[in-house]
Amino acid sequence: MILVIRPEAPEAAVEAMIRDLKGMGLKVQPILGTSERMLGLAGDLGGYPDDAFTRFEAVQTILQVREPYKLAGRRYHPADTVVTAGNSRIGGGHFAVIAGPCSVESEDQILSVARDIAGSGATFLRGGAFKPRTSPYAFHGLGLDGLDLLRIARQKTGLPIVTEIMSSDYLDAFEKYVDVIQIGARNMQNFSLLRDVASLGKPVLLKRGLSSTIEELLMAAEYLLNGGTDQVVLCERGIRTFETATRNTLDLSAIPVLKQKTHLPVIADPSHGTGYWHLVEPMALAAVAAGADGLIIEVHNTPQTALCDGPQSITPEVFHQLMKKIQRVRRAVQGADSEGEK
Ligand code: PEP
Ligand code: MN
Repeated sequence: MILVIRPEAPEAAVEAMIRDLKGMGLKVQPILGTSERMLGLAGDLGGYPDDAFTRFEAVQTILQVREPYKLAGRRYHPADTVVTAGNSRIGGGHFAVIAGPCSVESEDQILSVARDIAGSGATFLRGGAFKPRTSPYAFHGLGLDGLDLLRIARQKTGLPIVTEIMSSDYLDAFEKYVDVIQIGARNMQNFSLLRDVASLGKPVLLKRGLSSTIEELLMAAEYLLNGGTDQVVLCERGIRTFETATRNTLDLSAIPVLKQKTHLPVIADPSHGTGYWHLVEPMALAAVAAGADGLIIEVHNTPQTALCDGPQSITPEVFHQLMKKIQRVRRAVQGADSEGEK
């Protein structure tokens, strides 16, 4: 629900009303960037009749918001959110490229890839230390040692690190060492993990579940925003369909749909979205053209020996060429506005 405030309402009346609304257990958020003064309400509104709000003298009228994601929705927050970690930013015109191996395998491996991708213009380093694997017999990552190697790679390159958390048992370590905490597709609706991670107040990269709708993704983001962080990036990483020619079906239409519905930055993952390294470039470029705020791409120095997701990993050389093409597509879609490029 949105409360439209009377232009002549005294400030004291507005403040007293906000206190009362918070006392009713509601979240009250000023809506910026509109000609009228408005307050967005989130929380359990089901029990209140409309006149519970119109009775406040400061209220001119109320607008019902159908979407259940109040904090993630654009209605309450028309301006794009910019997510910041170290010197890197995503959203609001800031394009980010997160690159690195599926999993951290050794110091040599992560440092070599980190240096290469930094040299090509990547803005974040990715690498899994805790890996969700379909098979219990597969490589599950180096765990805390992997986080330590990422920390060293950040020190050497300056790139903020993005890595997946799978359990709240490691919240302390992620709080200390990780710049952007990834919630993987398989945990998108792990609501207790969402709440715990949100409570750290750090940037979160939330990946769309394998069979989740766009609304479910936005509701998962709502958990994070309601739980204590305002720094959330959404990621389209391919969904399950009947198609078997690709590992998943990268839902490119989700990008403009999300950009319309939410103020949060939206990125695409053409690596998991396709499963094949030679499809990464065309789908990365298509995602840029579709309006993505960034990309997350798996890059490995020797994909043929990778412990995880080698077939979908591109080499640093292919990544270097791709970065140049990304800039060209960005300029092409921005057209005459390209002087506004960040
Ligand atoms: C990953 O990024 O390595 C990963 C496991 O992604 P997803 O959760 O999208 O499968
Ligand atoms: Mn992977």
